[in-house]
Amino acid sequence: MKKTAPQHAPMDQFPVSNNNLVIGDLELTQVVERVGQTPFYAYDRQLLTQRVNDLRKAMPEGLKIHYAMKANPMPAIVQHMATITDGLDVASAGEMKVALDTIMAAEKISMAGPGKRPEELRQAIASHITINVESCNELEILANHSEQLGITANVAIRINPAFELKASGMKMGGGPKQFGIDEEQVPDVLKRIKVLNLHFKGFHIFSGSQNLKADSIIDAQQKSIALAIRLADFCPSPIEKLNIGGGYGIPYFPGDTCLDTDAVGEALNNTMQDAKKQIPSAEIIIELGRYLVGEAGIYVSRVIDKKISRGQVFLVCDGGLHHHLAASGNFGQVIRKNYPTVIGNKINSDNKETVNIVGPLCTPLDILADKIELPKAEIGDLVVIFQSGAYGITASPINFLTQPGATEILI
Ligand SMILES: *Cc1c(COP(=O)(O)O)cnc(C)c1O
Repeated sequence: MKKTAPQHAPMDQFPVSNNNLVIGDLELTQVVERVGQTPFYAYDRQLLTQRVNDLRKAMPEGLKIHYAMKANPMPAIVQHMATITDGLDVASAGEMKVALDTIMAAEKISMAGPGKRPEELRQAIASHITINVESCNELEILANHSEQLGITANVAIRINPAFELKASGMKMGGGPKQFGIDEEQVPDVLKRIKVLNLHFKGFHIFSGSQNLKADSIIDAQQKSIALAIRLADFCPSPIEKLNIGGGYGIPYFPGDTCLDTDAVGEALNNTMQDAKKQIPSAEIIIELGRYLVGEAGIYVSRVIDKKISRGQVFLVCDGGLHHHLAASGNFGQVIRKNYPTVIGNKINSDNKETVNIVGPLCTPLDILADKIELPKAEIGDLVVIFQSGAYGITASPINFLTQPGATEILI
């Protein structure tokens, strides 16, 4: 295990040339011409690769890094991620199709998510991917379809652990949850898997998302591995895969600090030594979405109007909440904060003013940035929202107000 270079702060990831933001070696105004429209999302392939390489240096040797596609399921991105990660985690048959279209082997693809429809389960069985079962009913239904199809399903149990991922942006484990099977019920479910003649692959323990605290992640990882070790005696066959989730966050707001992946890697390396002794057959996996793609993407919209209302300046853009719900503050945030934002074709201009940046929707929720100081912008200038590579277009209500869509490019 080697030390990584210092983590970059948000926004340093894109260089500047001629007062323009540069993405994929192209100045933003050129990118706009190439795309042929605003608004759009642009993702930088080199940054995706760099992120995975840096993470591998920080993480223990032998740890498998999977890409959780729901963060950004753009097929071009998934194709690229398939060449640099060790597996793909999908949350629907739709995502599974995109994953299976890549070079990734089916055995390295897994599907999680509550409420999998019967057709989805059949598709997953027929595709020979690993299915993370989320309930006792789902297990029985899966077994039925498996028998009908004459294909032994590969199943892992998603466990809803008794512990939580502390200081997490979104908790997905601990307490009563729609995700996974309660830890207490798992021994009985393991017996059932044996009776039902399914191929037992292992466990999936995902406890939360968007966490910047190394200590919390270390704690959850240690508890996840300890839990799997405790359950190993109940398993019908040796654990092949132990997916300990992810939750690695990225900084969005002032005061957010980058996750200390070196600290996480060091601790995980120690914990993995225990796992190697006690559950030697288990491949340890982390699954990350946001951390791998979030910082590599920007959202670009154009200023359509500039107006002053009772002394405040409003930049009205052709993009907004309908493409980027998260930047508007309506995707799970308790208190709205501005995403890092710049005027992409006037990066270094000294002439600044405080503005409100809004979208074209007839709702006061359509805010891209609230009272932010930026270089003075005019109609036609380009507003860029950073940290937009994850939970962007596919996490937004694109049909709201029947506005034109946004395109996406990977450069
Ligand atoms: C959403 C999700 C992820 C990805 O979470 P990120 O915070 O984007 O890393 C991983 N695994 C499961 C099961 C998920 O539901």
